[in-house]
Amino acid sequence: MSDAAMKLVVVGAAGRMGQALIRLVHEIEGVTLHAAVARPGSAFVGKDAGEIAGLGPNGIIIGDDPLAAFLHADGVLDFTTPDTTNEFAALAAQARIVHIIGTTGCSTEDEARIAAAARHARVVKSGNMGLGVNLLSVLVEQAARALDPADWDIEVLEMHHKRKVDAPSGTALLLGAAAAKGRGVDFATHSVRVRDGHTGPREAGTIGFATLRGGSVIGEHSVVFAGEGELVTMSHSAGDRSIFARGAIKAALWARDKKPGLYSMLDVLGLSQ
Ligand code: NAP
Repeated sequence: MSDAAMKLVVVGAAGRMGQALIRLVHEIEGVTLHAAVARPGSAFVGKDAGEIAGLGPNGIIIGDDPLAAFLHADGVLDFTTPDTTNEFAALAAQARIVHIIGTTGCSTEDEARIAAAARHARVVKSGNMGLGVNLLSVLVEQAARALDPADWDIEVLEMHHKRKVDAPSGTALLLGAAAAKGRGVDFATHSVRVRDGHTGPREAGTIGFATLRGGSVIGEHSVVFAGEGELVTMSHSAGDRSIFARGAIKAALWARDKKPGLYSMLDVLGLSQ
């Protein structure tokens, strides 16, 4: 592996995660901010990225041309929107660089495009880049494996800030998928994403979701195992976006010398089973 600092591009540079990433790239050794990219037409294009992130000027002017930004970079940190991430996945594959994807709300078609791009790029994608939630997902999988679905119901509860646009959260889906894996069932056909009206009794073996939105909550998640007369609750509380940004940078450094492929945060953290 090269000893030179890894040159990273932050896309969605003016977003909540983009700003957290710019601050941490500045702080963490072994990485450097190569370029910052915002949406074409954004009021932030032409502004100093350090200034926007509250660091003071750092000389990196926010641009709107991802291809030019990726050309001499080693990796891209992407917490944007599914459409944007799709477009960037193709460009990152073309440039043969590391693509760290934190964007949530991707459809099955989006996931297929990202997987195709990962034939040429080193992609790490996760609905949650933090250590805590990934550790929790391993514990949820174990608990789901141990508890009989005939006797135990699994519900995933989450709350996020009022500006979040996708539901359930990527983290809630990650935790639900871990529970489905533990039970050895297909997640898509065993999840109940919303309930409304006369739903009838709960179907045994399903994994239910409940979504709350409001205020400035960064991310609250609970997985409830409900049995006859007892509840087991496993939960995680995110107090600061820097936990996701730190994880994304860790993932970029980890992926630097890996073969092209689609990896998860469990791979990065050495938690894959
Ligand atoms: P946000 O504040 O809305 O930031 C998204 C940014 O992407 C915005 O600045 C947006 O610009 C920009 N963008 C949109 N299209 C673009 C394009 N074509 N080129 C460049 N930039 C573009 O949202 P956020 O809270 O940072 O979250 C972003 C994503 O990360 C969401 O999907 C969220 O769920 C996810 N997330 C994941 C994790 C994780 O650990 N995996 C943690 C936190 C958040 P405009 O505002 O100008 O459109």
